[in-house]
Amino acid sequence: MVSYSTAECILKKTGLDSLPKFDLLNDKPTDNVLISHAHQDHLNALPFLIKKFPHLKIITTPQTRAIAELTLHNAISILNRQVNEGEIEIYSHDEVDLLIKSINYKSYNEIFSLSSLNSNQEIEAEFFDAGHILGSAGIMLRFDGIKIFFTGDINLSSQSLLSGAHLPREKIDILITETTYGATDTTLINYWKNEIERFSHSINKVINNGGSVLIPVFALGKLQEMIATIWLQMQSNKITNVDVYTGGIGNKINRIYDYNRYSINRNEKDLILSDIPQKN
Ligand SMILES: [Zn+2]
Repeated sequence: MVSYSTAECILKKTGLDSLPKFDLLNDKPTDNVLISHAHQDHLNALPFLIKKFPHLKIITTPQTRAIAELTLHNAISILNRQVNEGEIEIYSHDEVDLLIKSINYKSYNEIFSLSSLNSNQEIEAEFFDAGHILGSAGIMLRFDGIKIFFTGDINLSSQSLLSGAHLPREKIDILITETTYGATDTTLINYWKNEIERFSHSINKVINNGGSVLIPVFALGKLQEMIATIWLQMQSNKITNVDVYTGGIGNKINRIYDYNRYSINRNEKDLILSDIPQKN
């Protein structure tokens, strides 16, 4: 029996240890890889997977493809810091460029078929808006009269920008899901609008006492929602008007959110994140 202490369980894996067990696919015929969204725990092993199985056809949404181009390049310098020399061959910027060019993309609710070198079975696929971050998708597979739906990371409720998941209305046979609050009664979770009130109240309290507020958020997804929330609250005089500082890769991701604001299910479509005054 292997036992782990609590500390070991919550330790973040880095480098080679953080990769999925690709060897499990060694004796399985594989044809396609469908990417649910661009958060690093769902995307960043892709270059290693393709190195091992170069024949795989990659399919995702156009927005995830755009973000992937940014974040996979960005990940190279992080990997160089985390991986010991000789432990694993890290991919190069040229390889990321080639990989991105090879990614096929399909919009939400566009039905497409998955080609197979290994069988003649017809498999139909469709992406549904998962409402989690820009480009996030739940994936429906239909074959032999069976429907399998994989949610990916999913958000059912509306945020400041994203309007929440748009799920399939048809009956499904098998559901595969991953979610942080899967076992929680959602009526017990605070609503976004109530949280904004609480958030604004806390910010005002600190600023009015002469303080500064530090908000640690992921650069992809949460930063865009936070910037939009703060700006909208400032515009309606619910948050004291102060300078806002952002940094890192988040500003580049803001531009991808802006570029796609009319092509996805979004609130505040006219709000351009890059136009919100931000100091670096
Ligand atoms: Zn995610």
